[in-house]
Amino acid sequence: MTRVASRHQALLNGTALCVHGRASTYDVYGCRCDDCRRAVRERAAADRLARSERLRADPSIVSHGRSSTYINWGCRCVECTEVHSLQCRTYFHKRKADLKEVQPQ
Ligand SMILES: [Zn+2]
Ligand SMILES: [Zn+2]
Repeated sequence: MTRVASRHQALLNGTALCVHGRASTYDVYGCRCDDCRRAVRERAAADRLARSERLRADPSIVSHGRSSTYINWGCRCVECTEVHSLQCRTYFHKRKADLKEVQPQ
């Protein structure tokens, strides 16, 4: 049993000393209650915000012209926006093509 699994077992048994509504409880105990999930979502949003602030302070810390920079760093420069929207379009067309294969008209 992994460490998280054994902690998770303690959580299920009610013997875990954890506080809900914390991202660390989600990570460490593998808790998926509403409060812990919300904490993880908020942490992810805060991380993204912190990253985009670091990016604004110094745009050279990431490489541009990448969809991942657009998504993970919230970069909205011309290069990243173009690549991202191109990838979205490509994905959309591919999905359409896939659907056509599954359901021939
Ligand atoms: Zn929880
Ligand atoms: Zn960029």
